[in-house]
Amino acid sequence: MPLPLSIVVPCYNEEGCLGELHARLTKAAAAVAGDDYEIVLINDGSRDRTWAIMQELAGTDPHLVAINLSRNHGHQLALTAGLDLCAGERILVIDADLQDPPELLPDMMAEMDRQKADVVYAVRRARAGETAFKRGTAKAFYRLLSRLADIEIPVDTGDFRLMSRRALDALLSLPEQARFIRGMVAWVGFRQVPIAYDRAERHAGETNYPLAKMMRLALDAVTGFSTAPLRFASHIGLWLVAASILLFIYIGIGFFTGSAIQGWTSLMLVVVVLGAVQMFVLGMIGEYLGRLYIEAKRRPLYIVSEIAGRAGGRPSLGHVAEGGAQGSETIAASETPGGNGSRPIA
Ligand code: UDP
Ligand code: MG
Repeated sequence: MPLPLSIVVPCYNEEGCLGELHARLTKAAAAVAGDDYEIVLINDGSRDRTWAIMQELAGTDPHLVAINLSRNHGHQLALTAGLDLCAGERILVIDADLQDPPELLPDMMAEMDRQKADVVYAVRRARAGETAFKRGTAKAFYRLLSRLADIEIPVDTGDFRLMSRRALDALLSLPEQARFIRGMVAWVGFRQVPIAYDRAERHAGETNYPLAKMMRLALDAVTGFSTAPLRFASHIGLWLVAASILLFIYIGIGFFTGSAIQGWTSLMLVVVVLGAVQMFVLGMIGEYLGRLYIEAKRRPLYIVSEIAGRAGGRPSLGHVAEGGAQGSETIAASETPGGNGSRPIA
């Protein structure tokens, strides 16, 4: 019998938060899953007593799984480690600092059931205790990303979300190194619904996302989900070609009316033509590089949600998600006589 609920929490220098975190997570988990849940804590190479406290907690609470990474790997990779190792049918991802309220879990569960969703992501309505600079840059970043990205990535959404097992399995089938998990979850697809909440202040300690780390995350996000920066040169090249037609006319007038000084015409032609050609060729290289980059990520080509009818048809490419929140629904449907014949994929 699979475990109904896993809660996955990456922790870096969170000694001041762990006690309170454990108490509040336990309460929230027990309210929705009774005794059948696990809390997976990942210590991401903390320099304080985080790991010692985790071990203590794991010694007293059988629901707790504590994972110690060999060094600081960064938030997204620590989270990936926890997601790889958790066993639940539904997975809650939450920060350790209690900025995201664990008490939202029952609502998220209810929303998942009600909407038959595979992902319930929490959208920040308000953010308390964060500097205007952090709020401003975060807001600008999410808007820029949603303009650049090739898929729709929800704005003002962190990693605080509830996922079904099949959505998680699909997410884990994405093998890339530079991971921007909230974007990758969006990429996976299925039915994803928002739920609004107010972001609280940090319970204790300081942010582990200084500007440098935020910039790195932003770069991973933009480069991971858009090749627009690579195509920039080809856009300039095209505009230059268009502009050079006007310039040709201008240069030609100078040449034929004799108003241009000696040598200017040939010099200008060379500058304009070379500039346009260079930009265009750079852009072409960008296009190839962009495709090479996408290929190098080796993501599955697509993810199948379910197949209706035509029993025995087997998809051979891409990634087929295991039945999750939705899957169990479809089993019920196909077992009912006269059901619509849709079935989960094994
Ligand atoms: N975190 C981590 N490794 C890091 C940095 C952060 O595991 O290198 C964890 C941290 O313990 C917290 C979450 O990632 O649970 C979010 O970090 P933080 O709260 O510092 O970021 P902010 O909320 O300020 O953006
Ligand atoms: Mg935080």
